[in-house]
Formats: sequence, C-alpha cells, structure tokens
Amino acid sequence: MTLRTFDYDDFPIDGDHFLHLSDRLKKEYPKFCASVFAIPKIMRPRHWRALHRRDWLRVCPHGFTHRKRECRFPEIWQPRLGMLDDIASDDCWTKCFKGPWYGYSEGFVEELRQRKFSVCNKSLYGFPLPMPGDLMAWNIANVLASHYSDVQFGIDYNDEEGIRDDGLHVVSHPVYPPGSLAKRKAGQSEISNRHVEMWTRSWSPDDEWAFVSDLTQPALLKLNLGCGPDVRDDWTCLDPRAKDLDPRVIEWDFRRMIPF
Ligand SMILES: [Zn+2]
Repeated sequence: MTLRTFDYDDFPIDGDHFLHLSDRLKKEYPKFCASVFAIPKIMRPRHWRALHRRDWLRVCPHGFTHRKRECRFPEIWQPRLGMLDDIASDDCWTKCFKGPWYGYSEGFVEELRQRKFSVCNKSLYGFPLPMPGDLMAWNIANVLASHYSDVQFGIDYNDEEGIRDDGLHVVSHPVYPPGSLAKRKAGQSEISNRHVEMWTRSWSPDDEWAFVSDLTQPALLKLNLGCGPDVRDDWTCLDPRAKDLDPRVIEWDFRRMIPF
C-alpha cells in the first residue's frame, strides 16, 4: 500500500488557485486529501466557507502572521499566546502546528505541548532540544522511515523542503512575487501543471491518502544527522567527524537506510 500526504502551506495566499487544483486532484484521485497550513491572521470568513465545503481538506495553523522567527523569539511569540489559545479552542483548526520556515524555540514548543498541538518539522533535525517526550510531531523523514522501513531511501537536502520529487509527501506553496502586497495578490502559483505532472506521474487512483495530523509520532527522535560533530547526551550522532570522540557515533551516508 502506498500512503501519500499533501501539505499546502501559506494558505490563503493564492487560495483560489489551490482550491481549484484540489478539486481537480480529488476527481482524479478519489482518496486524495490535503492538510492546508493556513496563516491565521489573514484567514477570512470566505476562506473558511470554501474550505468547509471540502471534507478532504483539513486546516492547520501555520504560525500567526507568517513573520519569520515569530515562533522563535519570545518577544514575538509571547504576545501571540492569546491567539494560540483562540486557535486551540476553535474546532475549525486541526491542532497540528507548523511554524513559518519550521522555526521554533524550546519555550514555544512547550507552549504548543501544553495546548496539545502536534508540531511539524521538515527533517530529522532542526527541533530545539530537548523535545518534550509526550510531544507528537509530523516529520516527513521520520514518517518515511517508519512506514517504509524495508525500503532504502535517501533524503535530498538540496530539495527545498527535504521532500523527494516522487509525490509521496508533497509540500507545496504559492509563488511569491517580490513585495509583500504583491504576495497577497499573487495570481500565479507554484502549483503549475509542471509540478502536478511531476507528482502525479507515480500516483494511482488506488493510493491511500492521510492527513499529516493522523501520522504524528513522538517527537523525541534522538538522531543527529551529520549536521555537525556535536554529540549530545543520549543521542546517536551520524557525523563521522565525531567518531573519534564518542562511541555512539555510527558511520552512515545519505543514501543508506537510516539505522533506527
Ligand atoms: Zn510558510
């Protein structure tokens, strides 16, 4: 069985285009569903109405205003905690949070945990440390490893989102012309026919689809993927540069299966 996911970030910038595309995909792939990561501050009633007509879309918060680092610096996120409470108590939102550019501080992650949000991360690293043990996370690389443990896979870090181009776990965005006003008026989308053709090349109408909020796992993944020779207590480090320093370091390269 092939299980696929589709994230659409930065809704409702260019929202209509995405809605048209999702309608089209739904016709061709009956089990298609998508997780729409929406920017709370710019959601309007008409956006909610459009989304609520489509039960194959689930809406999750993507930051607050989509300001870079807004979930990293306490002076920015602390004044937004009231908004986080509102989101947490509003059934329109699925409690699966994706920070802009996946940036989080440890304190903010704790605020999310207390409100029972799961957290999106893009790869096996990048979370602040240590992660609360009961925090659930959607982590694309992690999910690949757990669902396809008998399959060798590589993680392409040159790819924008760490996603492979095989359409298995798609993360898509609108295109943003320069200038913030222009951003909101973007009439053109990254979800061009070229992208759709690339993804759907491997899609079949029989494929199973899941919302990412249903695939979360405990966030305490103790693996340092060679992003530096730091060896953290109780972690496995894969960077061979640290090999001489610590027996927990194991040799590995990007094209071999991750040794969980
Ligand atoms: Zn975004």
